[in-house]
Amino acid sequence: MIALVKLSYKKNNLKLMEMPEPVPDSNQVKVKVKRTGICGTDIYGYQAVRPPVILGHETSGVVVAKGKNVRGIRIGEAVTTETTVSICGKCRFCQTKDYNLCPYRKGLGSAANGAFAEYFCIRKESIHKLPFNVDFAAGSLSEPLACAVHAVIEQAKVSPGEVVLILGPGPFGLLVTQVVKSQGAKVIICGKEGDEKRLRLAKLLGTDVIINLKEGGIEERVKELTSGYGVDVVFECSGTPSALRLGLKLIRKKGRYVQAGILRQPVKMDLEQILFVKEVVLLGSHTQKSSSWKKALNLMSESKINLKALVTDELPLSHWRGGFRKAKEKDSVKVLLYPPN
Ligand SMILES: [Zn+2]
Ligand SMILES: [Zn+2]
Repeated sequence: MIALVKLSYKKNNLKLMEMPEPVPDSNQVKVKVKRTGICGTDIYGYQAVRPPVILGHETSGVVVAKGKNVRGIRIGEAVTTETTVSICGKCRFCQTKDYNLCPYRKGLGSAANGAFAEYFCIRKESIHKLPFNVDFAAGSLSEPLACAVHAVIEQAKVSPGEVVLILGPGPFGLLVTQVVKSQGAKVIICGKEGDEKRLRLAKLLGTDVIINLKEGGIEERVKELTSGYGVDVVFECSGTPSALRLGLKLIRKKGRYVQAGILRQPVKMDLEQILFVKEVVLLGSHTQKSSSWKKALNLMSESKINLKALVTDELPLSHWRGGFRKAKEKDSVKVLLYPPN
């Protein structure tokens, strides 16, 4: 089969090449890929990616084969998948089903072969049926949606009426926006010059307040909207140090700050101001786990999240270079690749 392989840690060392078709073991399901989304971690690399490996972890497809111990999943079913290929099952994080934190976890398209290919195999526990109202394109966004659910509902525990600031209107920021709205909170989204198209989309998706940094005055706007206190919760979704500092400036005392974007570099900050003076709660959010998927699939089946609106491009896998280029550009939001039929 044809697959997009990351060959080494060297930057851009990717190749579309012939790879052996995977065979499911007794507890695995084999999926024929329909759509796989390009993620920032595919483009910029990420420490969990261990080449040589087939990339791709945001996916949907059809079950074509299964191992002898797999029950309750039928051949021909439309599915999406959690990214857990294997875990140790023994560590304290596995005991509490926090699989995302298992030190021995192997993820689809990072430590185990992924879905920029015609087929992949994954453990039966990771497979989920796509809700009937969700097509393959939207279904491939269930993984980043589960990450957004983990950040918003499980980590920050956003509640109705809160004012939430989202920094960065990229694909992930727009998913976080929708999950925050589904919890009944108010969203202020902030972008910068070049983000105009994405900010317009944020408006269409129900964001309450749109701020473009190029117009200035963000501090005054936030004060006005929060009676001078600052926002209750910040999600930094751009992975840039300047956004991190802005978020910590605009957050209220006792607010919750979630670092959702990957920073890729150490950042200097004034912890005295943040922790001692303001009692800000700093929260991490690492990918997703089974509980996040249950909530994400419920939101999808209740049509509370518009995943389709985020899909701007669908290209054949052979055009992956163009797809990766588009995914870096701000004219596109989510770019999907599909293998040959
Ligand atoms: Zn991803
Ligand atoms: Zn473990």
